[in-house]
Amino acid sequence: MTRPTPAPLLLRPGLRVLPRADDEVQVGTDPRWAVRLVGLRPAEARLWAGVDDATDLAALPARARAVGADAASVAATVAELCQAGLTRARPDPTTTARGPTAADAAAWTLLRPDATGDDVVARRADAVVGVVGLGPTGLGIAQHLAVAGVGRVLLDDDTPVRSPDVAAGAHRWADVGVPRAAAARRVLRDAAPGVHVDGDGDPDVVVVVEHEAADPWRAALLMADDVPHLSVVVRVADALVGPLVRPGTDPCLRCLDLHRADADPGWPAVLAAIGRGRGDRATPAGEVGVLAGACAALAAAQVLALLAGATPALCGATVELTLPDLVARERRWHVHPGCGCVTPPGATHAGPREG
Ligand SMILES: [Zn+2]
Repeated sequence: MTRPTPAPLLLRPGLRVLPRADDEVQVGTDPRWAVRLVGLRPAEARLWAGVDDATDLAALPARARAVGADAASVAATVAELCQAGLTRARPDPTTTARGPTAADAAAWTLLRPDATGDDVVARRADAVVGVVGLGPTGLGIAQHLAVAGVGRVLLDDDTPVRSPDVAAGAHRWADVGVPRAAAARRVLRDAAPGVHVDGDGDPDVVVVVEHEAADPWRAALLMADDVPHLSVVVRVADALVGPLVRPGTDPCLRCLDLHRADADPGWPAVLAAIGRGRGDRATPAGEVGVLAGACAALAAAQVLALLAGATPALCGATVELTLPDLVARERRWHVHPGCGCVTPPGATHAGPREG
């Protein structure tokens, strides 16, 4: 009688087993999940040292027997790796992400407890993301999202492309004078032929790229519409990415302004002056290329994490990226008691709100 063949079992993508000593190996190098297997017999250590993310772990005990190692001990170690969450079933080749999203899917397979990175990437095709403000930073965000497989990207900015916009590499000299949204549609179609950039739809999340300060009026509209939104504020030599606001759950942009006003009574007047200047200045400041690139990647990553069902790090936080070296500084924020955007726990409220 032959034993049933066990279902193939693999290490999560990118993990491989590295020798540390005659009786010790290490699985992976990322400290978040690297583990050491210690006290191995030499034959077992040699067997493990050849294992990578393509090795069928279910067949490893039989291989151990063939090379004179202890099959039961190898099977026990495989069970431990399963328990530690370092393994996954062999992926279905018909649903495996390929091409530009393959690396992204592999990373999410490593990150998610259920190892379903391919599903995370596939689901993006149904997502709708708005990007408001399409200078180098906004266009970079839109481009990252399109290439990552987001199905529809709503582009909002009809000001013309100017020569400083060419700084970050996405806008071309030939686009100068063309409305930014029109130029962005061309860039996105080139980068990701499957992306929809026409028409509209209800966005799952909107990224708003502004200069000097976030516009409280626009933030209030997004709160009223109950749309998750990520603020990106670009200044001459630094930029603020965050917070990402899930209305009713996270501190909102008004909360942040109320905290700022608590610390600096002059802030409301400054904010109002920035708002008045917004309409007057025909040519807003340009954006430094490396700063735009860093902000775009960080902002897009937050959106993709939200779409994956995770709680992005910038919910209730801002990251300030400063030139010349772009070292990031994170700041956590809390709901301001005077804002009223989040119902305190235990209070009664008008409608159901999941939190
Ligand atoms: Zn608030």
